Amino acid sequence: MKALVCGAGGFIAGHLVSRLKEEGHWVRGVDIKEPDFGPSPADELLHLDLRDPAQCQAALAVGGGFDEVYQLAADMGGMGFIHSAECEIMRNNALINVNMVHAASQAGAGRYFFSSSVCIYRDMEVGEPELTEDDAYPAFPDNEYGWEKLYAERTAQAYGRNTGLTVRIARFQNCYGPQGTWRGGREKAPAAICRKVAEVAGASGAIDVWGDGSAVRSYTYVSDMVDGIVLLTRSDLEGPANIGTSEYVTVAELVSTVAGVAGKEIEPRYIPGPVGVQSRNFSHARIESLGWKAQVSLQEGIALTYPWIESQVEAAADEALA
Ligand code: NAD
Repeated sequence: MKALVCGAGGFIAGHLVSRLKEEGHWVRGVDIKEPDFGPSPADELLHLDLRDPAQCQAALAVGGGFDEVYQLAADMGGMGFIHSAECEIMRNNALINVNMVHAASQAGAGRYFFSSSVCIYRDMEVGEPELTEDDAYPAFPDNEYGWEKLYAERTAQAYGRNTGLTVRIARFQNCYGPQGTWRGGREKAPAAICRKVAEVAGASGAIDVWGDGSAVRSYTYVSDMVDGIVLLTRSDLEGPANIGTSEYVTVAELVSTVAGVAGKEIEPRYIPGPVGVQSRNFSHARIESLGWKAQVSLQEGIALTYPWIESQVEAAADEALA
């Protein structure tokens, strides 16, 4: 089996490449940049800019064609980036998504997976009943990133209906784990909080946290996400499927989970910042109908992630001193 993984230098796609290699497949990764954390386990990693139609064609050019194409390349980041880079998000991601699905259909790819996001849903009140995939419409995403994802979902589905390409779409909830971006402005809340806690010298201290700590989220560990991606891609499930855990916590609870794992007394100092939506509560009935269920709790996932981010923080501090 031959698989193409777009965005293979990034976080989730990097873990996906490792999974596909463990399964024994031949994997080509594609990214505009080198992987941030060590060499890719892909059989080959091509440096291509997938905004360009010709480079999408080059990504797909292989003898016999690709059985599976995973499209996870995106210009993206956490809420800070989403609110400060609207034009880049709209332009770069629309170009990548339109050109990749077109090239995949022309190249006769087998299955085409697209990584959408629960950012396509509207904001929710705390305690609201869960949203199903159909509740995406009438559409009212909270940010431009969500609108672009919705457009890209529809584009992929149109190609599925009209060209015979087998399209599978997941709407990811927040994903975290080792080898995710942890600094620089694109990091997401779990990584940012792990970093800030790791930077607290000694056994206690305060960290800045955007918002008032009451926003409700769920955080999905990367191995669970990869399980869902592979299962969905090879399934008969048409239409988008949410992938995420139903373990919903407030941002304040996320901070105390990280503090507990770190063994530090942490006082959150709530400050104004781009928090995003107030609450989340999604149905997972569709992905669970395939036998998927999140295996890793937030406590377990942070216990796997915090030491990795702590080691990155320590290595960066050593580098700065050298
Ligand atoms: P990431 O930023 O770590 O990986 C994305 C990769 O795409 C990066 O390595 C980047 O260099 C690459 N890329 C960007 N522009 C490119 C271009 N023009 N050509 C080729 N490669 C390009 O992000 P991630 O967290 O691993 O997310 C993967 C996918 O999942 C994205 O589509 C993202 O929108 C989606 N998603 C992620 C989350 C999350 O919590 N991480 C949540 C919802 C959806």
